[in-house]
Amino acid sequence: MAIQSRYELNPADMPKQWYNVVADMPTPPQPPLHPGTGQPVGPDDLAPLFPMGLIEQEVSQERWIDIPEEVQNILAIWRPSPLYRARRLEKALNTPAKIFYKYEGSSPAGSHKPNTAVAQAYFNKVAGINKIATETGAGQWGSAMSFACKMFGMEVKVFMVKVSYEQKPYRRSMIRCWGGDVIASPSNTTHAGRSILEKTPDSTGSLGIAISEAVEVAATSADTNYCLGSVLNHVLLHQTIIGQEAIKQMAMAGEYPDVVIGCCGGGSNFGGLAHPYVQDKVNGKDVRIVAVEPSSCPTLTKGIFSYDFGDTAQMTPLVPAHTLGHDFVPPGIHAGGLRYHAVAPLTSQLLLSNLIEAESYPQIECFESAVTFCRSEGIIPAPESSHAIRQAIVEAMKAKEEGKERVILFGLSGHGHFDMSAYDAYFDGALEDDVMDEAGIASALKAIENLPKPVGYTGAPTK
Ligand SMILES: *Cc1c(COP(=O)(O)O)cnc(C)c1O
Repeated sequence: MAIQSRYELNPADMPKQWYNVVADMPTPPQPPLHPGTGQPVGPDDLAPLFPMGLIEQEVSQERWIDIPEEVQNILAIWRPSPLYRARRLEKALNTPAKIFYKYEGSSPAGSHKPNTAVAQAYFNKVAGINKIATETGAGQWGSAMSFACKMFGMEVKVFMVKVSYEQKPYRRSMIRCWGGDVIASPSNTTHAGRSILEKTPDSTGSLGIAISEAVEVAATSADTNYCLGSVLNHVLLHQTIIGQEAIKQMAMAGEYPDVVIGCCGGGSNFGGLAHPYVQDKVNGKDVRIVAVEPSSCPTLTKGIFSYDFGDTAQMTPLVPAHTLGHDFVPPGIHAGGLRYHAVAPLTSQLLLSNLIEAESYPQIECFESAVTFCRSEGIIPAPESSHAIRQAIVEAMKAKEEGKERVILFGLSGHGHFDMSAYDAYFDGALEDDVMDEAGIASALKAIENLPKPVGYTGAPTK
């Protein structure tokens, strides 16, 4: 018998409900506010952009929400996803720790993002919407949404951050393969795009700008809705199938994690893995849960907890979350995704409630860890996922120092097959580390200066 390193569930064990962490949070997140009136946003305010099925999930307090069968049937193309024990990595590190990872790179798009893309496409389809406008950074979300829309015979227009559009042509090609229409952002096809180009003709774009363009298209066309790949409650909800599966697979391996780790951009893969463990923690389990972000975009570790816009053009509702300011443009030298200026309100509130922790690392260490990982485990990680690997290795080395056995579970949110230019930059010594300084915090404070402040606002980084 070969030594078991992979733990597979049967198709019948795929979760049939999503887990809504709001039902178990001691302090639920504060409501988003209307950008014009400053009043809490109601379902009617969201109706121009989202179908009612998703709006209901966005505000739901129910603990469990059924996954429609049509959605399950498409998820079943690649789910349940595998859980691995990283035996060779343990050996390479010579650690007494047991390291497990939940791998989401086996989806058609190569990341966790199709988990929510399929659900979002479905709820739009049943509401009679056949066109979606959305944005994408490095192309993962745009490709996931194009795949999902094609499954339901829908059209999609993807605004792709210009620097990635030029540097990462293969995700652009994937979007086109699945029939999506992909446009470099800022573009001259929207007011938001044109006004940025007037001020900064050579703008390389940002997620905030691309969101403005996609929201504008959806808000001004009756037949088009908007989809977001992270941050919103319903997105994190759809990802909770990851953690539910992981809990069952860890039990198959006869283990329960001492620490659960996920990389964090907007918070969706982290929340997907973490929320089912947050439920356990609220119910008395002794488990640490760690969100890991890049030092060059350190939202949870250095951001200000405030109300802020989700986009640069200040069109979205104000959301209560850790933010670096809605006009934050991450340094161009940062290769590894996770570049959004804010984070999910759910993730922020869990941090404020001390149910999770946050850490940040510079990118070179993360690539170093990714290379250690692929040279022992085989899979080449997405640069985003390398942040979780870095933390897992730090935890494993701590276990070694302390001579303790420690069970570590991390989320491997995707593979890096379309990010090989970032690996080349690492091998060529062309990557630089950039750590946000006081000036970055001052500029975040300036961006939120005249915005409403949530309960818990301190006017300083909260970590
Ligand atoms: C998009 C993406 C992320 C970051 O987004 P979250 O919403 O924070 O999960 C992380 N890993 C991969 C592979 C991604 O595609």
